Amino acid sequence: MNRGWSQLMHFLAKRPCILAAISTDFLTRRTLPLRSKLWNKQPLPLESNFLSPHLLRSLEKGLSMSEEIRIPISASMRHVHLCHQDVEALFGAGHQLTPAKALSQPGQFACEETVNICGPKGRIERVRVLGPERQETQLEISRTDEFKLGVEAPIRASGKIEGTPGIRLEGPEGVVELQKGVIQAARHIHMTPADAERLGVEDRQWVMVRVGGKRGIIFDDVLVRVKESYVLDMHLDADEANAADLGPDAWGVLIKGLTGVAPDPND
Ligand SMILES: [Zn+2]
Repeated sequence: MNRGWSQLMHFLAKRPCILAAISTDFLTRRTLPLRSKLWNKQPLPLESNFLSPHLLRSLEKGLSMSEEIRIPISASMRHVHLCHQDVEALFGAGHQLTPAKALSQPGQFACEETVNICGPKGRIERVRVLGPERQETQLEISRTDEFKLGVEAPIRASGKIEGTPGIRLEGPEGVVELQKGVIQAARHIHMTPADAERLGVEDRQWVMVRVGGKRGIIFDDVLVRVKESYVLDMHLDADEANAADLGPDAWGVLIKGLTGVAPDPND
């Protein structure tokens, strides 16, 4: 157990009643000694549905944060990546996507093209297409969008679309009835191997990131993606960014010593 955790254990041992059930779940998913030493024998009293302020303060004191490395944060609005076949189906035979704006990751761009998406309950117009073309079409939406459209999309890492729902895409030249590919993108951080080394993390690791401000949040379960061509940037969807009231210059810091937990792939 690292020093941060032993400080936290000591703190909690003196105050056995401050943890809500959800906090216990949060901790026991990461550190079984907590459950076996302190909580095994009796159920915890419920205090609130959140990690208690005491616990959060303790986390901040006891665990080191990589304050020296600011991770820029970008919010991704709903968007769609298209395969070549679907580009032609929606925009006409031989159509090439038109880059409109470069994105933070080299080679990725927002296109002039948009599509309308149509679910069982509602539609959203002018959803941005992102290029370049991909092997498989993938629509990334927020939870709020799901309510509007009437679809239930799982949280997935980009590209993991097996078993996800489909939806109808409408372009100026045709329609695509997607059979799968609608997801809520798992929040993630792009970084180079050098960034990963400085931050002490590895590709595909799940980590936690804290952002400050009046609606500061600790984002649990953030996926690390390492590639030489990447630029350090954390990607959230619109709901996540709005919940933390993040602006264009938002940044966060990695919380070292706490490991995030991957979302259940069977969700
Ligand atoms: Zn990304």
